[in-house]
Amino acid sequence: MTEKQPYDPDNIFAKIIRGDAPCVKVYEDEAVLAFMDIFPQSEGHTLVTSKKAQATNLFDIEDDELKTLIAAVKKIACAVEKALQPDGVRIVQFNGAPAGQSVFHIHFHVIPVYQERTERP
Ligand code: ADP
Repeated sequence: MTEKQPYDPDNIFAKIIRGDAPCVKVYEDEAVLAFMDIFPQSEGHTLVTSKKAQATNLFDIEDDELKTLIAAVKKIACAVEKALQPDGVRIVQFNGAPAGQSVFHIHFHVIPVYQERTERP
């Protein structure tokens, strides 16, 4: 059974969304904020999070909020694809500390994947 964690409104992503902590913003609308990961796994590693959902992860986000969030994930992934021309794009989302989640505010990782090559396109 996945460990349940109560939503903490003072988590770092909630602070970023409120403007109480800094981020390198890449996209924002009334429902969604996307910003660069502070410890990127590759060039362009972006986090996409809901500004409205008081949700720790997939298990407590409302379906309509998830729908909006995943549409934004697609938008960011397409923008990353166009701008950076990676060989692939990984979409990652962790649920619970044992699964690797460390920030308990719902978010998706958009992680460009680059194969070994000597020349950039
Ligand atoms: P994990 O830490 O295992 O990747 P998560 O899915 O909870 O698990 O991801 C949290 C992500 O947030 C991490 O990739 C981490 O580098 C990133 N992060 C933590 N603090 C900040 C911050 N202040 N600004 C941007 N990214 C952050």
